[in-house]
Amino acid sequence: MPKLVETVDLSNTTSAYYAPAVISPSKLIHVAGQPGSTKDGTVPTDYESQIHLALLNLRKLIIAAGSSIEHIVKLNLYIVDYDAGNRKHTRHIQRFLNGHRPAITLVPVPKLAVPAWLFEIDAVIALPEPSPVPALAAPTQTTDVIIIGAGLAGLTAAHDVLRAGLSCVVLEGRDRVGGKTLSQQLNDGKGAIDLGAGWLNDTNQSKVYALAKRYGVDLIEQNTQGNAVLEDFDGKCTSFAYGELPKFDKATQDHIAEIRDMCEADCQALDAWRPKDTSLDSVTFEAYLRSRGAKETAMATATVWTRAMLGQEPKDISALYFLNYCKSGGGLLQMRSDRKDGGQYLRVRQGTQAFALGLASSLPEGIVKLSQPVHSIVQSADRSVKVQAGGIVYGASKVIITIPSPALKNISFHPKLPPAKQAFLESTTYGYYTKAMMEFRSPFWVKAGFCGLAQSFIGPAGVVRDSCVPEDQKYVLTCFMGGDPGRAWAALPTKEREQSLLKQLSKLYGVTNIDAEFIQMTAYEWVQDEFSGWGCPCTSLTPGVLDTVGPDALRENAGNLHFAGTETAGEWKGYMEGAIRSGERAAAEVVKALNAGLTSRL
Ligand SMILES: Cc1cc2nc3c(=O)[nH]c(=O)nc-3n(C[C@H](O)[C@H](O)[C@H](O)COP(=O)(O)OP(=O)(O)OC[C@H]3O[C@@H](n4cnc5c(N)ncnc54)[C@H](O)[C@@H]3O)c2cc1C
Repeated sequence: MPKLVETVDLSNTTSAYYAPAVISPSKLIHVAGQPGSTKDGTVPTDYESQIHLALLNLRKLIIAAGSSIEHIVKLNLYIVDYDAGNRKHTRHIQRFLNGHRPAITLVPVPKLAVPAWLFEIDAVIALPEPSPVPALAAPTQTTDVIIIGAGLAGLTAAHDVLRAGLSCVVLEGRDRVGGKTLSQQLNDGKGAIDLGAGWLNDTNQSKVYALAKRYGVDLIEQNTQGNAVLEDFDGKCTSFAYGELPKFDKATQDHIAEIRDMCEADCQALDAWRPKDTSLDSVTFEAYLRSRGAKETAMATATVWTRAMLGQEPKDISALYFLNYCKSGGGLLQMRSDRKDGGQYLRVRQGTQAFALGLASSLPEGIVKLSQPVHSIVQSADRSVKVQAGGIVYGASKVIITIPSPALKNISFHPKLPPAKQAFLESTTYGYYTKAMMEFRSPFWVKAGFCGLAQSFIGPAGVVRDSCVPEDQKYVLTCFMGGDPGRAWAALPTKEREQSLLKQLSKLYGVTNIDAEFIQMTAYEWVQDEFSGWGCPCTSLTPGVLDTVGPDALRENAGNLHFAGTETAGEWKGYMEGAIRSGERAAAEVVKALNAGLTSRL
């Protein structure tokens, strides 16, 4: 008799007396209670870290059973010591559901099966019919390699593929190249401003610096002469010399330095490409800091880092992910620095999009195809790949995909991507991150002895940086809105956004006539941009993903599909440098594979 109920298992669940999930004849998947434990059973003491891990365990089962989050029918949440006044689970569950609204029951309980468990979740999920393989027409153009995305990763890969004697096309969804580099001319003729990437350096970012040299752009050293400013919890602003700690009392300064140095040491101990540390990956960055005694001022300082670097709150990301992100850029201190070797040392007078424009224009005509959003990718048994973009079908032996991971949900893959890659991709999240460029008639902050760098515990801008080009009489302060204060700012009407930033800037630099100095605000909402995957500058991971799914899951090839893009980089992940290096790596992979094929045919 055929079995009516199918069980769904993961590699470590087959010996348990119950199934972690079952599929019923009515095509429903029943998932058993998932606690917040890691693969080896480690349970962090922190409640929010447990929620992240439980949701990841649920996500993995949903993928293994062949369904997805938007097919969840019912969730039951079991919460120990439930506090109706402090519903910490809602934030994480809402982010997990990403707009989907299943039926949910919350069950407060005195304790769960294992004393350390504080949270457990079970679910019922509908199982969709498998989608048929789309019958794509014969390709209208066939090349050795198709590259998807004309950002820095894709354009770099195209150069390397062609240099190896292979043919390629680059399919770009937008009507422009450059992806998350986007330079806009100011309408008063005072040069360009960067709505996307703005900074680079000339030492450890050797690849992007080489492009700056190749395309002859003018580089401007970041202004670090003069005082920086801190805006405290109470809105009080104090200035301090750039490179020093803000003027807190001595004990607070020592404590912040201790927490900062601990983060630096912990990140330096990690492998940039393959970080491995279950205890760091089982907790959020917030829980990591608290477990090491971070007090409120140190927590707020660390929150400035995560908001300014990733647009994230420390409670939303894995400690291992954040520390590894820092390591990829040479360490927390180097990444945060505006001086030589630092992440924000140099700016480009013409704008950073000049690099992608240069790379694209030095490719042979017809290679880059704009306004070609890719919707389907079909890998065939004969080892060829068909890619559908708009109404056109392209064919190749290899495909390099360089698009940000959240944008991959716009593409249907046949066959589906491997479960580990799906779990990694679906677990990546953007925080909130917007740069607003505030243009002024004069650099009033410089005249008042400030270098322009400011940080705030309360926002709306968490960080402000000078972005002047004196040769162009362009005087700009770039305000970085990230995390929760950034979301609150984004909810305001445009005029109020502008006014709130002007108010904050007046306070930071002690000016009374800012309205007379102000010319205009320019900002771009990356959260509305489908081709960046509705966010920027780089995605992050919640606890457990690096440890249980593995750090290579995103960049590993899936058959003839190869993966690049800054998120896949080992060095300077999230930056232009990482994008370029990832393009080189993916091109080297396909060149090696295709040349190996050639040799074997001879
Ligand atoms: C506001 C902001 C500030 C930043 N600041 C800095 C900084 O100071 N320094 C720094 O080094 N980096 C910074 N970055 C990050 C930097 O811009 C990126 O790391 C880098 O540009 C990413 O390049 P990429 O090629 O990996 O991806 P992308 O630039 O995202 O390119 C991917 C391309 O794929 C295309 N695409 C997406 N979906 C499809 C589809 N379905 N079909 C076809 N094409 C598709 C996109 O349109 C895009 O052109 C910043 C980014 C932003 C947005």
